[in-house]
Amino acid sequence: MAPRADPELWRHFVEDDKDAKCRYCGAKIKKAVTSNMWRHLQRFHHSCVVFKKHNIRTSK
Ligand SMILES: [Zn+2]
Repeated sequence: MAPRADPELWRHFVEDDKDAKCRYCGAKIKKAVTSNMWRHLQRFHHSCVVFKKHNIRTSK
């Protein structure tokens, strides 16, 4: 069983083999890299996600 670091995060992804697949657009992200998963949500699906406890800053 893969460890699920953050249940909040996994509300927006489904497990797909070794990756995490975005529920919204189907993008695959290495599920070990949770910061990348958060960054993906923040960049592409910001309106779908409430970022309350995770302050991941993306530099533009
Ligand atoms: Zn997505």
